[in-house]
Amino acid sequence: MTVETIDTLIIGAGQAGLAMSEHLCSAGVPHLVLERNRIAERWRSERWDSLVANGPAWHDRFPTRSFDDIDPDGFAGKDSIVSYLEAHAQHFGAPVRCGVEVTALRRKPDGSGFIAETSEGVFEARNVVSATGPFQKPVIPALVPDDSGVAQIHSSSYRNPAQLADGGVLVIGAGSSGVQIADELARAGRKVYLAVGPHNRPPRSYRGKDFVWWLGALGLWDVKANDPALEHVTIAVSGARGGHTVDFRELAAQGITLVGRAQSYESGVLHFADDLAKNIAMGDADYLSVLDAADAHIAREGLDFPEEPQARIIGPEPDCVKNPILDLDLAEAGVTSIIWATGYVLDFGWLKFDVMDEKGRPAHSRGVSAVPGFYFLGLAWLSRRASPFIWGVWHDAKYLAEQIAARQG
Ligand SMILES: Cc1cc2nc3c(=O)[nH]c(=O)nc-3n(C[C@H](O)[C@H](O)[C@H](O)COP(=O)(O)OP(=O)(O)OC[C@H]3O[C@@H](n4cnc5c(N)ncnc54)[C@H](O)[C@@H]3O)c2cc1C
Repeated sequence: MTVETIDTLIIGAGQAGLAMSEHLCSAGVPHLVLERNRIAERWRSERWDSLVANGPAWHDRFPTRSFDDIDPDGFAGKDSIVSYLEAHAQHFGAPVRCGVEVTALRRKPDGSGFIAETSEGVFEARNVVSATGPFQKPVIPALVPDDSGVAQIHSSSYRNPAQLADGGVLVIGAGSSGVQIADELARAGRKVYLAVGPHNRPPRSYRGKDFVWWLGALGLWDVKANDPALEHVTIAVSGARGGHTVDFRELAAQGITLVGRAQSYESGVLHFADDLAKNIAMGDADYLSVLDAADAHIAREGLDFPEEPQARIIGPEPDCVKNPILDLDLAEAGVTSIIWATGYVLDFGWLKFDVMDEKGRPAHSRGVSAVPGFYFLGLAWLSRRASPFIWGVWHDAKYLAEQIAARQG
């Protein structure tokens, strides 16, 4: 059996693996990126056709490369993101080997490095960076049985309205994926129900600046760790149709029936929590708090930004919020499909040594684990709020490259 030896192995060639490779190239650290499929695979095969970036192109990018086919204030489509990442990898000569899956990673018995078993043989490395993604394994709660007669898919498998059987659709989860998919289905003429849990729904832009700009100005990209109280609060933003604020009143006006959190299922009937009005009110409060923080910043800094009083007008509650449906007979309502926009969990089944905390989550400090030479990159809140995003991961990768280069010394 041949064993290939390399100083540093990066697992995964999404934006995180490529950012890591770029910095290791700059630092002159010999390395190899192993990718089980293709560069930027998740953007190719785990996103819906019409998906665009949640942030404008001036922001959702590496600091070292701009999009050449998108206006900086525009929102890159998923295919543009793939081309962008591929072109960047080619530009700096990222040593990526595609079609190689890491099936097991073990520590060498003497602690001097790692042995990776892969679909293409064995690799030995002194350092390993796991860049296998913040959103790895789709989660579908075990609520509706498979034999319910309703087709069920996760948002990662949704492509476009034509893919679904004729009939109504229940979208469960109102984060960025759920609201965008529900909106697309309603525009395609489908009857849509949207189950809305606790969420934040910041303004797309306010007083002339995009939300991602405000996150920067207010120092919120740098927030260190998520507030555990808000752990289950999703964020609903959209770059679709040129970018707009997610407004559940507008979705309702468009014909989407909003319902509360899906709670249980029995004999063809889905039961929803009586929390819709509360969740909508919480989203409104979050929205207004961003406006307040932005206004305070403008006043503090003496900035000459245009006033936008109309942004504070919140319309009346739609009927479906005032009189929420608590039980929905799916067959009677003509619902033939359920789309679960309920997020992802991590999956480190290939990691064969203990590097997790007591709750089974990756244990690290800014991506540096307690196992010498092993690093995590691209995880949510790895170092701060920006960590899983295209722009943020580049900065986290820079820090890890410095740690790895220091080990070289
Ligand atoms: C619907 C959706 C929309 C998003 N929109 C945005 C956005 O607009 N802007 C933004 O900045 N972020 C966005 N994100 C967040 C984030 O940018 C993406 O999740 C992005 O794909 C993360 O990149 P990554 O490189 O960290 O991980 P991934 O893209 O998940 O890449 C990991 C790679 O590792 C490979 N891999 C996994 N296991 C192995 C193994 N054992 N061996 C070899 N290879 C392996 C996978 O094939 C994959 O290619 C979005 C996320 C989702 C889910």
